[in-house]
Amino acid sequence: MYSRTTDDYQAMYAAGIRACVEPSFWLGQNRRYAGTFFDYFALILDFETVRARRFGIDHFAAVALNPKEADDRGLADEVIDGMPAYLTHERCVALGEIGFNNNTPNEEYAFVRQLAMAIERDMPVIIHTPHVDKLKGAERISAILRELNPNPDRIEIDHNTEETMAISRETGCYCGMTVYPISKLTPARVSGIIREFGSERMVVNGSADWGISDPLSLVKVVEFMAADGHDDATIRRIVCDNAMTFYAGSPNWKPELDLAPVDPNMFQR
Ligand SMILES: [Zn+2]
Repeated sequence: MYSRTTDDYQAMYAAGIRACVEPSFWLGQNRRYAGTFFDYFALILDFETVRARRFGIDHFAAVALNPKEADDRGLADEVIDGMPAYLTHERCVALGEIGFNNNTPNEEYAFVRQLAMAIERDMPVIIHTPHVDKLKGAERISAILRELNPNPDRIEIDHNTEETMAISRETGCYCGMTVYPISKLTPARVSGIIREFGSERMVVNGSADWGISDPLSLVKVVEFMAADGHDDATIRRIVCDNAMTFYAGSPNWKPELDLAPVDPNMFQR
């Protein structure tokens, strides 16, 4: 939501969205200082929550060094060393996203270090599978999970496609699918994947970033899947219930689903 406008929040509320989790992501340009990461973590945990609340949406965040910026090991260590203060913030419900971008040894180092931090804290974790060489990344993630053996209730492996779903399902973790309007995963493909693999531990999320993406993706998945013959319970499970169960792994996850939007004249700057 960091890169979205107030129109997006208004549209989300009108479409029935009442809570969201914003993962730490890549801003489009690599950060050069650990301090820039810390200000960003503070912004998505503090101000973004205040901003969302004005529009009737209860906003939470996940904190991590994302894989796209994990290739500078010195900077990675500095950022990870400073993360504990943000992981204990009352609006932080997960560590993420971590994982792979180009499947490099430095990315693996930052991934394993942060995964160990989450295991130590018994926190939910959001894992990013790469968009290029996705299968290789998913296989490596699966091998690392076998080795570190976290509680599968606390792990969501995200950005799955037809190519990776079988491997990710085998881990017993939650499996995410991130929906985009055109590129990557569409509502039609989600519908097909759910038909093939079922809806247990499946979590659909929408990409709302600075590229072509859509904060209303979930609503579009609901509409498409209803028309495509899925029953209400299945649809509810993948766009709401499973995510609620997963994030309940954090004591900070107490979403208020009955917030009312605030009159814009009452906003305080
Ligand atoms: Zn991601």
